[in-house]
Amino acid sequence: MLIKNRTKSVRIKKLEVMQRRIIRHHQRYLSIEDELSGRLAGHFGEQSNDYFLKPFREFSVVHDLRLSAHDSYFQIDTLLLSPRYLVNLEVKYITGTLVFDHLNQVIRLKDDGTEEAFKNPIFQVKRQQSHLIEWMAKNRIPPIPVRSLVVMSNPRTIIKAPPSNKEVPQYITHSPYLQERIKVIDKMYGEEKLTKKEVGKLSKMLVRHHTPENPDLLKRYQIEEEDIIKGVYCTECFYMPVVRKKATWHCPKCSYKSKDLHLNTLSDYALLYGQSITNKQFCDFLCLSSRHTAKRLLDNMNLTHTGGYKGRVYTLPYPT
Ligand SMILES: [Zn+2]
Repeated sequence: MLIKNRTKSVRIKKLEVMQRRIIRHHQRYLSIEDELSGRLAGHFGEQSNDYFLKPFREFSVVHDLRLSAHDSYFQIDTLLLSPRYLVNLEVKYITGTLVFDHLNQVIRLKDDGTEEAFKNPIFQVKRQQSHLIEWMAKNRIPPIPVRSLVVMSNPRTIIKAPPSNKEVPQYITHSPYLQERIKVIDKMYGEEKLTKKEVGKLSKMLVRHHTPENPDLLKRYQIEEEDIIKGVYCTECFYMPVVRKKATWHCPKCSYKSKDLHLNTLSDYALLYGQSITNKQFCDFLCLSSRHTAKRLLDNMNLTHTGGYKGRVYTLPYPT
């Protein structure tokens, strides 16, 4: 049973807005594109791995968890829950070859022949596993075995390790073998540690404690206000800015027309600057010359607001 689905992270959504709106000659523009393409590959890798989870109907499945541990957070891509054991899956979409040595140091050989040091995903899942066990103990969940696997969702990823390294075959698998690996785990744990009702309660508790990440990417990439392209964009061809004529937005490039194009642009605003907006900020970001038009559009959105008529601050919907 699927308890919590996977959606694009706020980080990816912010990067998409930045890719759309940062001036092309900004010195960090290519780094933004790089991070976005890496994260999108990861996201689609996780999605494609979900296909291999379909046979496991008896599990409660929770995707994308971010839970607090001490002063920071730990993240879990997919958690499978059953009354007998839990399985933590860390899904990786990696191109090239991962080479482990007998000390578990990892090098990634890229397709272009270059190599780079790579964070060991086995350490990563072990850390997640111990954080999860601690988290459950703190939340008074009866002890239950937790196993972890690193799942390679790109079928072309090659894993190399010396025979003396026993952890690589124990922890790492490719998506198509996931079912077999879970069958083996299933045979190891016969005893029910939680009732079905307790598994349901635990799943809901995990979802309730999930804290989405909200990174300040403008600060990280040193983006100033003048680096951001303003205006309403066309949802058909992404041209910007579209023009407003007779209460309708018109795209000069593809001739698309719509009364609602400002809504997507406000979602961009919320991702860049947060959900609060004044009439002046609205006019400025949407390149509107009339504050009366702005007021009408804001009123039509039925947003909650604070402050009097002049200093009114509206709260935009959480960007989706
Ligand atoms: Zn267009």
